[in-house]
Amino acid sequence: MANSSEQKKLIIQVAIPIPVNRIFDYLAPKGTTSISPGTRVLVPFGNAKKVAFAVGIIENSNIKNDRLKPIIEILDEYSLLSEQDYQLVLWAQHYYHHPLGEVFSAAFPVSLRKGKKSVVAQEKHYKLSAKGKCLNPEQLKKTPKQKQIFKMFQQPVLSLTSADLAQQHKNWRPAIKALLEKDLLSIELQAKASKKIFDKTETALQANEQQSKAIKQLIARIGQFSVCLLEGVTGSGKTEVYMQVIQQVLDLDLQVLVLLPEITLTPQLQDRFKRRFSANLSISHSKLTDNQRHCAWLEMQQGHSSILLGTRSALFTPLKKPGLIILDEEHDSSFKQQKGFLYSARDLAIVKGKLFNIPVILGTATPSLESLYNAHNKRYQLIHLSERAGTAVKPKLLLFDIRNKRLQDGLSEPLITQIKNTLAKNEQVLLFLNRRGYAPVQICHSCAWVARCHHCDTSLVIHYEEKRLRCHHCGYQQHLTPHCPACKTGELKALGLGTERVEKSLHALFPQQKIVRLDRDSTQRKGSLENHLDQINQGKVDIILGTQMLAKGHHFPNVTLVAILDVDSGLFSIDYHATEKLAQLIIQVAGRAGRAEKPGKVILQTRQPDHPLLNVLLKQGYNSFAQTALAERQQAMLPPFSSQALLRVYAGNPADPQMLLKKVCEIIQNMESYNTLVLGPVSAPMAKREGNYHFQLLLQNNHRKKLQSLLGLLVPQLYLLKEARKVRWSIDVDPVDLY
Ligand code: ADP
Ligand code: ZN
Ligand code: ZN
Repeated sequence: MANSSEQKKLIIQVAIPIPVNRIFDYLAPKGTTSISPGTRVLVPFGNAKKVAFAVGIIENSNIKNDRLKPIIEILDEYSLLSEQDYQLVLWAQHYYHHPLGEVFSAAFPVSLRKGKKSVVAQEKHYKLSAKGKCLNPEQLKKTPKQKQIFKMFQQPVLSLTSADLAQQHKNWRPAIKALLEKDLLSIELQAKASKKIFDKTETALQANEQQSKAIKQLIARIGQFSVCLLEGVTGSGKTEVYMQVIQQVLDLDLQVLVLLPEITLTPQLQDRFKRRFSANLSISHSKLTDNQRHCAWLEMQQGHSSILLGTRSALFTPLKKPGLIILDEEHDSSFKQQKGFLYSARDLAIVKGKLFNIPVILGTATPSLESLYNAHNKRYQLIHLSERAGTAVKPKLLLFDIRNKRLQDGLSEPLITQIKNTLAKNEQVLLFLNRRGYAPVQICHSCAWVARCHHCDTSLVIHYEEKRLRCHHCGYQQHLTPHCPACKTGELKALGLGTERVEKSLHALFPQQKIVRLDRDSTQRKGSLENHLDQINQGKVDIILGTQMLAKGHHFPNVTLVAILDVDSGLFSIDYHATEKLAQLIIQVAGRAGRAEKPGKVILQTRQPDHPLLNVLLKQGYNSFAQTALAERQQAMLPPFSSQALLRVYAGNPADPQMLLKKVCEIIQNMESYNTLVLGPVSAPMAKREGNYHFQLLLQNNHRKKLQSLLGLLVPQLYLLKEARKVRWSIDVDPVDLY
């Protein structure tokens, strides 16, 4: 009998990271009998080679074998993904209706997507050999240098790297070489983890009563799946709670994944973790090099590192010994990927916890309405930290009515007085305005011409420092001109407020004070944000003015006055998420005040002093606001009481997107739509962006499963429509904004 496995070549099915909704068949290399899902393979595709991901092996393809191309190379001996990691990828593909190859791609760092070998940098560790262990250093007295170095190895179980040796002896190499030749030392290669083990670690703080209770409850959940919503006011010591729970997980020799918004993953936080744990720590965020992220990913995957601090995409990092997932600032919209594969790292963290049967902790001072809803439904356990840790007290919140008030570049008289009083006490002031540049609109005084972007439906923002007009959506820019280009004579005026304008005014009002502006423009240069933060913390700055960048994570102990210059811009959005985001922002910004022993004050300038949302938030706090907002959402059957998916379409002309959406509506009408509400097609809130015309269709169903069934039928058809080929489209499941 002929050896059939030699006769018959097996076929490997692969997912290729391209925007198509199918998998591809390739001939397996000779001798291959199995392949684990997620294994990277190199395949010919068109005229190029692509790194693809194996999903399975089969005997017969629908395509004739002689038309199948062979796989060029199998890149991994074993899949770098565990069975559960693979299940997570499949789950995400299914739920977000996104092409499998691109979902796989998101799970790997760029280096591995490009086919780089899955090895981490290694370094030499010198240790005593068996012979060396029996030798008395005195026997080396004829070679004093060798004796000196050999002695360094006499402490219990020490291995030393070249860096360690170089620290103590300039010219250590010849002696080490001699000791190796005498067989007194040996070499071991070890992964070069991001951090070496610290000699000493900082001890945990004495937890207060609420913290202790939280820590106890969280520790009790180690070893099984659960979700806890840790709702702790700013400064309540959530990080301390995380660290004490993490220690317990490390003691069990398990790994911890900590996910944070980019903006809060600061060097200060990394140091806090490094000082606390005698474990290897890896870091992954967008400002690191591809190689650094490659190493962090593999250090966790291979178990060289025990803690990963990372941003959204770190969610997919495989853990060799998973023990705990923490997601801090769970309400933060940066956990939602806004381009390409539109996943929510928060929601996937929970799926991951379930697949690995480990606990997930969601922490925040301002829980998202979805998470609160899940806590009310007992799907999540709610744990409160309602008091600030240490001696800090909660700040006072005040509304300043600025109707009919004279403002000096956004600053009201009473606010200026408050700033003066605070500075007189040698305390710091923080002013928040969520708009950079000098002013958002340039208008002609005589003919009312407005400088607009040619590519977007928006006005150009004045940046006086750079003498430019800039579009904040597409990056288009032009020089500032002294006269109106329309009437040629009119004087051009700046309308509205930006941080640059407020800064100028502050300099005029407080010429003696040190003022620092923190926004995307002023922190362009690498290290400049850190530099500013250091100055602030050293008390060298009197007034801090900034955007969103200030709202989170940073700890300014000497700030006792915080003012939000313009809350009104957030009150009247057509997107129902806006009020939730505004309330979170107000509380987060307020959280920067009075963090140490000095009490803080928070002032909100508004022309809507009677606005119900502001009043509930200020008088009764975030939780009451959230109850009110949830009740409103329930009335309107908006998420989390229903599920939504947004189909976004754009093209260089307005006709093609509308054509596609009309077709989609027809398709939905002709199929079982499970009572799905179809809203649209409508043009997007900012219809023209970067020269493209954006349209959208919102699908909503009171039952998540039914919406999923509809999408499962609809999306595969979308890929086949000829109308879809002329446009760019995406499907956003659980959109966090409707733009
Ligand atoms: P959060 O993350 O909740 O905003 P942090 O964990 O950053 O709060 O803690 C705020 C401050 O309180 C930090 O300076 C921290 O060192 C301090 N802190 C936390 N827990 C305690 C405690 N049990 N005793 C004393 N100080 C504490
Ligand atoms: Zn004019
Ligand atoms: Zn533009």
